[in-house]
Amino acid sequence: MNEAEQRRHLAAAFRWTARLGLHEGVANHFSALLPGSDHQFLLNPRGRHFSRMRASELLLLDAQQAGGEPDPAADPTAWFLHSHLHRLVPHAKVILHTHMPYSTALACLDGFELQMLDQSSCRFFGRVAYDRNFGGMFLDDREGPRLAALLADGVSTVFLGSHGVMVVGETVAEAFDELYYLERVAQLHVYAMSTGQRLMTIPDDIAELTCRQWLEYPEGAELHFAELLAILDDEEPAYAS
Ligand SMILES: [Zn+2]
Repeated sequence: MNEAEQRRHLAAAFRWTARLGLHEGVANHFSALLPGSDHQFLLNPRGRHFSRMRASELLLLDAQQAGGEPDPAADPTAWFLHSHLHRLVPHAKVILHTHMPYSTALACLDGFELQMLDQSSCRFFGRVAYDRNFGGMFLDDREGPRLAALLADGVSTVFLGSHGVMVVGETVAEAFDELYYLERVAQLHVYAMSTGQRLMTIPDDIAELTCRQWLEYPEGAELHFAELLAILDDEEPAYAS
């Protein structure tokens, strides 16, 4: 993996997020460290719709400048959030932030905790954190460090109360796969809860086993993402330019 590949992968993640309807206007932001760096990261330029993102126009920013003024080409909330998280959370090499509808709906429920309803839910067993202290937009240097404290080792997903979600991963493929399954699981939650019937949850020991099986499943995220890249290569190759 080199910078060009990382740019192509991140651009593909934006385009697929738009295809799946998980974007919000021209807001929301994804970032990815350059391969081999612990501080240089790619970020979407302010105002660009996810469906038009190109690999070459992703901004290259430096987390060592966290605390400084945002680059005018970057969305300020994106700068304040991603610069501090890349500085403070080594396992968050890729950070995806969306307001995707089903997950955000769950983030708006008082005291919500993800239930182990099905096989896909178990993927998130013990790997989810909850921020229940919405404090307005990320327009200063306080929110990044506060959210970084929630991202303990092994945590991939944060439900941002009254706001949206944040997913982190080692690679773009891994983080995108997580984002995709999170929204599927959230959709299932909303459907199951909408019946008004009692939920049947999976016991902790089985959920933990199933989570481990998910994480050890050979190349699950990579195979998924490789197909998404192939579809874009056929249908909208400009993403890679
Ligand atoms: Zn947001």
